[in-house]
Amino acid sequence: MSFVAIDGPGGAGKSTVARALAARLGWERLDTGAMYRALTLAALRAGIDLADGEALAERARSMELVVDESVLLDGEDVSAAIRTPEVSAAVSEVSAHLAVRAELVSRQRAWASQRSAGVMEGRDIGSVVLPDALLKVYLTADPEVRAARRGAEHGPDERGVHRAAAALAARDRHDSNRGASPLTVAEGAMVVDSSGLQPEDVVDHLLAALAERGVTIDQAARTYAVPSPELVETESAEREPAARTGGEPAEVVAPPAGESRLPRGRAQGVASEPPAVRPISSGELAFYAVCRFISVGASRIYLPGPVIGAERLPKDAPFILAPTHRSYVDWLVAARVSKRRLRYLVKGEVWKSSFTGRLLELLGAFPVHRGTADRVAF
Ligand code: C5P
Repeated sequence: MSFVAIDGPGGAGKSTVARALAARLGWERLDTGAMYRALTLAALRAGIDLADGEALAERARSMELVVDESVLLDGEDVSAAIRTPEVSAAVSEVSAHLAVRAELVSRQRAWASQRSAGVMEGRDIGSVVLPDALLKVYLTADPEVRAARRGAEHGPDERGVHRAAAALAARDRHDSNRGASPLTVAEGAMVVDSSGLQPEDVVDHLLAALAERGVTIDQAARTYAVPSPELVETESAEREPAARTGGEPAEVVAPPAGESRLPRGRAQGVASEPPAVRPISSGELAFYAVCRFISVGASRIYLPGPVIGAERLPKDAPFILAPTHRSYVDWLVAARVSKRRLRYLVKGEVWKSSFTGRLLELLGAFPVHRGTADRVAF
């Protein structure tokens, strides 16, 4: 398994580096700090005593949490709400409880067990969550640098930086001195001081360390490269062979000998050939029209107000509409801007339920398998 564990104190640049590294490798990333923050937000909202580990753990067990580029807590996008000074001030107390950690660590390990590669960031990834990670990194930076990076959270001026410095120092102390999985340099971790470095420099450094461990990236081909079809565990073998659409597929990542080049979970169901294009039936058009009528009606009640700029959409020519993804219903709202039957790019996980997948397909949706170069979706 090819996992990168990135630990370190707040403001060290973990998220920036983890995101960039994951993008370069075509792997997924998990921000475990966001999980502790989401639980803290839920606890603050519910008025749970932050000293009551069992009550917090119970809330942790009941919460539905999706951590991606955005963070969804019980279906609500809390990406911004978990980054407030109030949550930052309380999160270390919440994360110090053993029962809380047991629940969140088990979710983090489940995330890893569903993949064969990924980047995970936090405080105890290399020491507790994934002690066998292929590459363990302890990313740090001078306290002033870290405070300056986090200053914006506390105000745009110098006082904001001072407040950030004090808050970060308190959090670091708490995280490093707690009994349960304290922040520490994991055994075998590479220590990187990002103080004078740009994120790309750190990423290059980590890619070099991965290369030493047998994971390489083809710089030129990385963006649109696809895995070799024979490596893809897919139902495509049972499909009609179709004409190839591109040149020879390029290799993105070469893991240590014996390992599949694709994250296992992701590979399943990722076809190497595009499906045949078929005409839309009149039944599908009618179904879309009915659903659009209902959703547009509902969105007008939910979000009254005009749609601005819709006249700029072409009447006949193809276009790509890229709405901001703020909630699970934004795709319904997007239907408001055009009467034409839109086709929706939807994350592949939704097809785990064949009923939902079929329903979405009827509405013109198609899956994109994240964490890999999904040429069919392109
Ligand atoms: O990374 P971030 O600063 O968002 O993390 C917020 C807090 O979550 C940390 O200060 C720490 O208390 C907790 N945390 C943790 N273990 C992790 C990740 C975060 O205890 N793996």
